[in-house]
Amino acid sequence: MRYLRSLITVAALLPSIAASQSSRTQIVMLGTGTPIPDPDRSGPAVAIVVDSTAYLFDAGTGVVRRAAAAGRNGVRAFAGRTSAQPSPRFDRVFLTHLHSDHTLGLADVIFTPWIQGRRTPLDIYGPPGTSHLVNSILHGYSEDFAERLSASGGPSPDGWKATVHEIVPGIVFQDSRITVRAFPVLHAGWKYAFGYRIETPDRTIVISGDTRATSKVDEQCRGCDVLIHEVYSDSGFATLPPERQIYHAQAHTSATQLGDIATRARPGIHPSPDRFRRRCSSRGGARIAPASPSAASVRTGRPSPAPPASPGAIRALRRSATATSDGNRSCGRPRASACRSGRSR
Ligand SMILES: [Zn+2]
Repeated sequence: MRYLRSLITVAALLPSIAASQSSRTQIVMLGTGTPIPDPDRSGPAVAIVVDSTAYLFDAGTGVVRRAAAAGRNGVRAFAGRTSAQPSPRFDRVFLTHLHSDHTLGLADVIFTPWIQGRRTPLDIYGPPGTSHLVNSILHGYSEDFAERLSASGGPSPDGWKATVHEIVPGIVFQDSRITVRAFPVLHAGWKYAFGYRIETPDRTIVISGDTRATSKVDEQCRGCDVLIHEVYSDSGFATLPPERQIYHAQAHTSATQLGDIATRARPGIHPSPDRFRRRCSSRGGARIAPASPSAASVRTGRPSPAPPASPGAIRALRRSATATSDGNRSCGRPRASACRSGRSR
């Protein structure tokens, strides 16, 4: 029963270090956990790093410390003056929805980088209700930042602030490096839950957020390079009481359904659970997934010799979803999938 839901990340990993050094986009899986307090998995959070600027998607528990770990592992966006003292910095956060496991780290993202030197307010993009959440956080910590601001040599007078942008579907942010487009997904009783399509100079990435199976994801992904999608294991689902099965069917995506989505979506990268399990190290730190042009040559879909929706591929997805317990491990060069497990909300 403990085990039910997983998140598969269909991630582009570089085939060589040289390729990573020339690419402009990195995907850093800072957390792949669920509400279960698994010490091996931080809460959901993905950083898309373009030219050393990080854009954060969701802010689960532990996000800032996982970013610090990524800094130590060579992600320049999170590196400090010395490798021993990484200084994660976020200027923008995009929330998929307001479930607590996706937002418990938000206070950390607001305050910790400020204490470490951020001078400007954090921009937070999220569904309606985000303003209430952020204002509540700021109100709750008012004694903290008042004391810090009054201290001699204290942090910036403005860096503790947050500017909230409550979003609707469409382009929600654009700068010279990145375009972020929100699209609605279907997640249990949430009126507003979003996935994101992110376009960078050399990559298109789709993040599903929490969602039940929906064609909206594969419609956004078609032609994309990387699809990051949640999933639960079919075998775990079968162990749930009927009322929880009803909930999860409304809230999340099964491995079988994800196989069908991947077939339709045709992301540039094929999940390779067996390789993942064999090659991922357990040294800790965040997953680092630099993009590379060659990654796009690995195709999914039925025209492929190994379509992901084949029975074998589905079994592989199920194995991945049920056997992998690697949330924050550092994955090296092979293309891979990451999973998170546990009961979710
Ligand atoms: Zn959720």
